[in-house]
Formats: sequence, structure tokens, C-alpha cells
Amino acid sequence: MTANSINTTHTMETIGEGVETVPVTTVGDGTGFSVQTFVCGNVCISPNLAWGGEHCNIVKGSGFFTSRANRVWLPVCSFLVETPHGRVLVDTAWNRNMSPFGVYDRRAQISSLGSWMLYRINQGVVGPNRTIRERLAAQGVEPRDLDYVVISHLDCDHANGLRMMKDAGKIMIADDEMRGATEHGIVNRVRFYPGWWNGLKNVDLYHWNGTEGPAGKSYDLFGDGSVQLINIPGHTRGLVATKITNPDGKYVLLFADGGYSSKSWQDMIVSGIAVDKRAQKRSLEWIREQSLDPNCIASMASHDPAHVDNIIRF
Ligand SMILES: [Zn+2]
Repeated sequence: MTANSINTTHTMETIGEGVETVPVTTVGDGTGFSVQTFVCGNVCISPNLAWGGEHCNIVKGSGFFTSRANRVWLPVCSFLVETPHGRVLVDTAWNRNMSPFGVYDRRAQISSLGSWMLYRINQGVVGPNRTIRERLAAQGVEPRDLDYVVISHLDCDHANGLRMMKDAGKIMIADDEMRGATEHGIVNRVRFYPGWWNGLKNVDLYHWNGTEGPAGKSYDLFGDGSVQLINIPGHTRGLVATKITNPDGKYVLLFADGGYSSKSWQDMIVSGIAVDKRAQKRSLEWIREQSLDPNCIASMASHDPAHVDNIIRF
């Protein structure tokens, strides 16, 4: 996370049922916007998947042959965005069925991920009371209280928890992302398991309605520019960053898997998995520009090893 120091205060706040105390960053006097980061378990992958660079091939990036000792455990994050217009959840992380008893469970994972192959590529775990649904419930927020659930892309560590959100207002998945994920091919068949979303009645396959971002494709969620879903293709075709901008023009950028950490844009290291490497690099350049902009309060990946639970009010 990067944060500018202008009028920024740091406090601790007890949230939910009083069991969690989280660091809170407040920028200026606040304008009713906030972004809360929830670490909802972990994912175990090859470091090449996260920071493989532009010359990494798909076999190396997938980590299919990488031993457990050479893998890394990274956080899997979900973000709650509150604005004066509504409440938006960005990504759903792991479903409880990945870890039915809150511990690593090989058989449960293979079933939840849809194949042994995908389990081989990435393993996951989500501890007791750590799914996003459980985390929100501890704060008195139920899925029906969410106006939107935005899915950055359809990889398992973002979309596996979708079924927990069947009662949310609308689940926003870019039409481009769904088309890309459901095209024929062995890689897609392993990577994207329709069991995560099939049959959900509240899915909205949206079409771009704006021209923001590196690909000139974006979607203005509330129609006032406050929450923009911006296509940052490369890792997947329809990958979106979520840019939340307050009336003062200050913003928080959630760039999902457009890079795996702040180091990614600082040192321009793309992830090892891409459907379009040139687009992926252009997207990372855009993330870098946005992150260095003086109006950027924070810029966050989904799996930065530095991530902890926190709230930013701005
Ligand atoms: Zn991810």
C-alpha cells in the first residue's frame, strides 16, 4: 500500500462484535468514502506466478512442477467499499467449502476448485470465521446489504466465494471476462470452473460504458465517476481494477492481479500468467502512473505479502 502524507491520521478502531481491532487511516476530514481490506485466507503458488516477469512461460508460471518448499503463501483479499451511494464488495476470495473445518483440506479443495490440476497449481486455506461472508457478518453486514459485488476476474481466489453472495444486489462480471474465461481450450477448462458461478441469478454481465484506462474500456458503476471498473487486460482478458474517487478527487486504486504487490509496479515486474503479455505490461504501466499520482491515497494488489486488515477513510 502506498499512502500520501497530506492530512493523514492513523488510529486503531474496534469493529464488528468487538473482537477485531484494525488500523484506520483517515485522509483529510473524510467525505463518506472508505475501503476496508479483509485478508480472507491464503493461497499457495509458485513465486513465478506472482512475479515471473515478461519472459516467464505458462508452465513455469503455473508452478505445476514447483515443489512445496519452493512455493509461497500469499494473502487472499476482499475489499469492502462504502460510498454515499452504496456498498460494494470487490472480490469474494475463498468459499467456506475450500476449508470446511477451517484447516487445510486437500479433498475439499479439489472438489471446490473443480479439478486436481487446479489444486496442483494453487492450494488455499481459509481459517475459522475468515471467509468474507463470515467477516462481514461479524460486522453486521449480510450479502443482501451489498448493492454490488464486483469480480475483478474469474480466477479461483477471486470467484470461488461467489455462491456465498447469491443474495447480494448484483454480481458484476465484465462480459469480456466471462467470454475470455469460457472460450474452449484446456487451459481455460482447468483455470475457470463454472461451478463457481453457474446458476446464480444476480450475475450482471456488463458491457463497458466508458473509455478510462490502458485499454480504453471501463464501466462507471454509479454513473457519477465515483466507482470506476477499469479494464487492465493481460493476466485475463476482462481483468478490472476498481478506482474509488471521492469528491475531492482523491482516490484508492484496487488493481487486483494487474500486479501481485506494490513492488510489481515499482520495479515493473509482471506476473507469470498472462493471456496477453503486451497488454499485461501496458496495464502495469498504467497502474504505475495511477499509483504515483499525487491524488492516489492508496494503491493495492489483491495478494501483496504486506497486506493486513485495515480501513482507509477518505
Ligand atoms: Zn489472484
